[in-house]
Amino acid sequence: MTKMPKPNYISTTNACKLCKPMGATLAFRGIEGAMPFLHGSQGCATYMRRYIISHFNEPMDIASSSLGEKNAVFGGGPNLKEGLKNVTEKFNPQLIGIATTCLTETIGDDVPMILHQYQSSSKTGCKQPMLVAVSTPSYSGTHMEGFHATVRATINAVTEETVDTEPCSINILPGFVSPADIRHLKEIASDWNIKATILPDISETLDGPALAECELIPHGGTPIESIKKMGSATATVEFGRSVADENSGALLLSEKHSVPCHRLGVPIGLRETDEFFSTLEAITKTPRPTKYSEERGRLIDSFADGHKYVFGKRAIVYGEEDLVIGITSFLAEIGIKPVLCASGGKSGNLKKAINSACGDLLKEEPAIYEGTDFYDIEEMAAGLSPDLLIGHSKGYQLSRKLDVPIIRVGFPIHDRLGGQRILHLGYRGAQYLLDLIANALLTKKQDDSPVGYSYM
Ligand code: SF4
Repeated sequence: MTKMPKPNYISTTNACKLCKPMGATLAFRGIEGAMPFLHGSQGCATYMRRYIISHFNEPMDIASSSLGEKNAVFGGGPNLKEGLKNVTEKFNPQLIGIATTCLTETIGDDVPMILHQYQSSSKTGCKQPMLVAVSTPSYSGTHMEGFHATVRATINAVTEETVDTEPCSINILPGFVSPADIRHLKEIASDWNIKATILPDISETLDGPALAECELIPHGGTPIESIKKMGSATATVEFGRSVADENSGALLLSEKHSVPCHRLGVPIGLRETDEFFSTLEAITKTPRPTKYSEERGRLIDSFADGHKYVFGKRAIVYGEEDLVIGITSFLAEIGIKPVLCASGGKSGNLKKAINSACGDLLKEEPAIYEGTDFYDIEEMAAGLSPDLLIGHSKGYQLSRKLDVPIIRVGFPIHDRLGGQRILHLGYRGAQYLLDLIANALLTKKQDDSPVGYSYM
């Protein structure tokens, strides 16, 4: 990990990361019939709902044990039990996903024990939802760590004893990508005749069609019956070069059920997508469908077409670590020079992962900083003369100050419509990103020109 010069203050100004249980609630939202439940005060749930709704423009219910001062002293067990009972009666969920917050971790609530007491005292004969708990104190990590820990906790709690391996069935653990990305992964699996269990699947639950009546729990998500059978899959493919071993669902499936695991980078850009497709070819022992060879060919053609507009431009990339790694690798492929790669995450893997994903394409290593905030990013940006920023919408103020375009990717995107429909993955996603970047640079050139121009 590259260390920033140690500042003589301890503070964060506009963090470049989000809260850990938020990642947990997003992952639980991608499970069929699941209700995310925060064990903590109402303010945490309200903040997370506000954030998620603003990006996805979809309803997002998050239950809360609604702790107050007394619970901070005497413990939150009674509220948690009462809250679970209420949610079960009102929503009839198949699964309740319980994530802890800073408060409940600090007061030391023993959530597994409270859940055990709750389940033992629940009325027999009446249908109870599955309970999956995950420890997510926000002071110990980012939303991405909460997300991956939740996927792993779900696999641990829900998968059943392995029977025979099911041929051509693959688990895909995509990490936190957009609903459009998940739909694309489903399309690839379907075109390839792969039976894929994608966990989680937010393609419908966070980007559903308009309905005459609001559903209490949105339809869609990874079916619990499919999660139960993940131990019988031919292989698991997990995206994320920064994912720690202890948060890896793929490793757990390998340890518990002997499912071979393939841990890859998020398939953003040509080479990371090539690796994903080659992995699928190796697992299925069948070549990729022609449609994707053609998409790849068109992408390379557009690299040649767009080269003169993007080559040599300088970019600042920021956000969650795996998106930063994927975007940096993609920029290096198309001839843009990443000058600063920054994340609020602190995996300790960022520098190594960027160098490994970019191979020999980076003639000069960019400044790479983990555990940073927007105050630091702004200070560093001043001396780097960037031509563009790439990251979520929290970089907007900086792009205004620097007078350079911002390319919005990832989460959260609060100041534009359609964040949930951004396609980052695959050859098609790379094509979309290339057009977006080249056109933003052309717009800037036209806007800055005293005469403008129309032919390129
Ligand atoms: S108190 Fe902790 S869990 Fe609650 S919103 Fe803030 S960072 Fe997240």
